[in-house]
Amino acid sequence: MKKFVKFGVVFGVLLLMLIGGVSLTACAGKVDEKRNHYTLNVVYDEVNMTLLGEERVIYVNTSENAFDKLYFHLYPNAFREGAKASVVSGSKKDEAYYNGLSYGCIEIRAVSIEGYDVCYEIEGEDKNILAITLQEALYPDEFITINISFSAEMPQIHHRFGVGENTINVGNFYPIACVYEDGVGFSKDLYHANGDPFYSECADYIVTIDCSDAFQVASTGMVKGSHIKNGRLITTVFAENVRDFCFVLSEKFEVATQTFEGVAVNYYGYKGDKDIEKNLQVAIKALKTFNQLFGVYPYTTLSVVKANFIHGGMEYPNIVLISDKVSEQDFEYVIVHEIAHQWWYGVVGNNQYIHAWMDEGLAEYSALLFYKINTEYGEDFDKMIDSARKSYRLYVKVFTKVNGGADGVMDKPICEYATEPEYVECTYTKGVLLMDAIKNSIGEKNFLKALKLYYNQFKFKLAAPEDFIASFIKVSSGDMEGFINSWLYDKVVV
Ligand SMILES: [Zn+2]
Repeated sequence: MKKFVKFGVVFGVLLLMLIGGVSLTACAGKVDEKRNHYTLNVVYDEVNMTLLGEERVIYVNTSENAFDKLYFHLYPNAFREGAKASVVSGSKKDEAYYNGLSYGCIEIRAVSIEGYDVCYEIEGEDKNILAITLQEALYPDEFITINISFSAEMPQIHHRFGVGENTINVGNFYPIACVYEDGVGFSKDLYHANGDPFYSECADYIVTIDCSDAFQVASTGMVKGSHIKNGRLITTVFAENVRDFCFVLSEKFEVATQTFEGVAVNYYGYKGDKDIEKNLQVAIKALKTFNQLFGVYPYTTLSVVKANFIHGGMEYPNIVLISDKVSEQDFEYVIVHEIAHQWWYGVVGNNQYIHAWMDEGLAEYSALLFYKINTEYGEDFDKMIDSARKSYRLYVKVFTKVNGGADGVMDKPICEYATEPEYVECTYTKGVLLMDAIKNSIGEKNFLKALKLYYNQFKFKLAAPEDFIASFIKVSSGDMEGFINSWLYDKVVV
């Protein structure tokens, strides 16, 4: 592909800089490559539970407008004492904060462009946005190199960003560029306990992680080098064209690896676990199934990591976390669901804050298709659809009784769902029922054809609901727009 060729050139330059210690002196210039590049050096201090980070971003203006300010999310500030955003719903608080309430944050120490310190402000209701004022406007197709020094305190919590009893989960830890949409502006949404409150574009990463050599590291991307010096494990990782970067540290990992169709699939369990090989094989089967159903996974690594986590699992590019609290019975299902997110969220991105049904509905339905095809796992597809319908109807019944009505709108910001069950029923459960209704309406062959088209067209990009709908319009003569919108905006009785 065209992008990959050009990407190779830019990535090669980055690589030279990293290896040769060459400093970047680029001023605003023009690049053909239309994605950002992050170089991150992160040191984890396990005694103080802090991260020290040096980030260099080559930011490309892919919009039609000139920018005089750039914005980055500061997700760790949602973990601050007194934060307005809640990182976990009230009912899960005690379990998540396993050692009592604990707080985290991110502090920006300096921002410079081309060697000069520049003005920046911490904005947002929850100090959740870093706003950098540019000395000169950044015009369309121009890029600029920004250096950001930061430190972050990690809370003791079983969450995406937290020090747990078994694993240290380092997700959403660095300033990441806010997505800009023409006509909308920069997306600066607050963290929320419901769902995955993230929205980002694919970028390239070179990350160096410095931690105690007592740890093993699981991460996004491919390890290009690792060595031990003075008791420190230094790992360098490259990741091309990924939507985010996450790593997990643990002293307890036991790893199994197998290469499948050019992808190194890793399963990180805990030492002594009996099911390490079994879980690795589930991951491989999921990769195989989704490769066939939707299109080939475009990366060279895929890691499934058992971790401390308050919910069932969490997806990041090339890496998924599966909670060690998930029962043996459900563990396989969560692996399959999270791996499906590599297609729906990872490769094909969407605004998870506003259109959560797009990635959650598809990931959940993909998991059901996995069981439909792989009958040896002993699950009945029709029964699973049936129980989804029963679950959604029960939600409607209970909410109607308690609240006088149940809002079945699927396409709305996650902050507008009053409760977690409402969010889950409207995005996951009704998402499954929507996908199944589309499949039944146009036939399985056309349904899968549309998803393949969708995957190919929006690979490494961001898709909106109308893009999803358009893929089905291409394979059907019916009124797919009216049909799908009636589900999204609660005009059908399920
Ligand atoms: Zn999910």
